[in-house]
Amino acid sequence: MKKRKPSRRIILKADWEIQKLHAANQIVAEVLLMLRENLQQGITTYDLDRLAEEFIVAKSAVPAFKGYRGFPATACISINDEVVHGIPSPKRVINAGDLVSIDVGAVFDGYYGDAALSTVADGVNNPEAETLIKTTRDALYKGIEKVKKGRRLGDLCYAIQHHVESAGFEVVKQFVGHGIGRSLHEPPEVPNYGRPGTGPVLKKGMVIAIEPMVSAGSADVRVLSDGWTAVTADGSLSAHYEHSVALTEGGPLVLSELKQDS
Ligand code: MG
Repeated sequence: MKKRKPSRRIILKADWEIQKLHAANQIVAEVLLMLRENLQQGITTYDLDRLAEEFIVAKSAVPAFKGYRGFPATACISINDEVVHGIPSPKRVINAGDLVSIDVGAVFDGYYGDAALSTVADGVNNPEAETLIKTTRDALYKGIEKVKKGRRLGDLCYAIQHHVESAGFEVVKQFVGHGIGRSLHEPPEVPNYGRPGTGPVLKKGMVIAIEPMVSAGSADVRVLSDGWTAVTADGSLSAHYEHSVALTEGGPLVLSELKQDS
């Protein structure tokens, strides 16, 4: 969930730093599952945001998005045609069957966690949304599979794009994933499209947030007058999934994955 800018140096992390990143990301993962359980008809996105903030603070962590470039809340909650960066509001009520994307960041002991999921609110049958969500989540894992020593960043970017486009959907290109560590956004940028064999070589100690944003129609997005909420230009449904992933000696370690969600 980051606007594009030129790449800088990639900061490799020591094993002890990856442990700290794991701890921060586990808090984020717990928040996301807690919010998903509370995603019922009638709750407002403001209520959900309060729950997220209380949970993070109770874990002795700090919301990472609140105040980031002026973002006013703990969670980004984006509904239906909203792609990312939806601002929680007491006026925004969740309806059963809404496609809801929730993105949360937390800082714990100086290290950042960042992850997102999409789901259909209140267990309503919504096949179009469910197909889009499954494709987005599967695309994320296709990318994660490519997080291996000696591969290049473009390999994982291509894997995401290929999976999404094979399913007849489009990846959003105006926002990208990112490195993560002692800052929320570090190099490299991690686009959801690319060419195999291009980009930086993946090395042990790299930690990246991979976050496909997928549209059921046009992938063009525009930002609403609140300065944050990105919506699909044609009003199509959109889904978002994100994990923070470390490249370890044993391969990719999904820092923001809870055992119960795998
Ligand atoms: Mg992110």
